[in-house]
Amino acid sequence: MATAPVVACPTCKKPVPWLASERFKPFCSERCQLIDLGDWATEAHKIPGSPTLDDAFEDKTALSDPPD
Ligand SMILES: [Zn+2]
Repeated sequence: MATAPVVACPTCKKPVPWLASERFKPFCSERCQLIDLGDWATEAHKIPGSPTLDDAFEDKTALSDPPD
């Protein structure tokens, strides 16, 4: 029987056997998978030059909010 290939977990670099039983491959665990996805989502919010929903919302609020 051939030895399963081993990959390094992208989050913690721990060796992970590439087996069907490894549910979170190439990650070693669900925790590492969530950490990596979280990093990716955080990076997506940092794209410079893209208008954000927050900015548009603030503009409308400022225009429709009557001065006291
Ligand atoms: Zn890991």
